[in-house]
Amino acid sequence: MATDPPDMTKREYPLIHVRRIRLPWRDPSLTKTECGHQPSEFTQVMDHAGLIAFVRDLGVQRASMQVCMTCWNHVRAQRDGIVDSWDADPLAVVRREVGHWRDDLLTREFRVIAMLVAAHFDEFTELMRGLEQIVPPEELVSRRAKKRGRAQ
Ligand SMILES: [Zn+2]
Repeated sequence: MATDPPDMTKREYPLIHVRRIRLPWRDPSLTKTECGHQPSEFTQVMDHAGLIAFVRDLGVQRASMQVCMTCWNHVRAQRDGIVDSWDADPLAVVRREVGHWRDDLLTREFRVIAMLVAAHFDEFTELMRGLEQIVPPEELVSRRAKKRGRAQ
């Protein structure tokens, strides 16, 4: 009598999914996992800082076997390296959200942000000048060097 092959879609333990870094203006309940689902759909979800610590503890190979492959690939594919927060690299976080598909939520958020900026343009300009002044000089030099490198 033949036995059925094991069902490889069922696992003894659930995979860990990775929550995307939240855009600071976004309602926390709308932040998805890297694989595009609501975190509430899963029993195990960690943030990027948690994943970094998990990899540090287990090593890349053992950690990768316990993490959703789609989440894992999205985190590893970040061209700026693995970022763990908005403050660490806002551009990397936005780049991840822009993705390859049309995103109506993000489009609405950008429209609202533009409207808020237009309504408070003097304050926006003042804050921009303030941020420019607190950027360390070595960071400005590095940014300019990168810009020149891309221009060639
Ligand atoms: Zn996932």
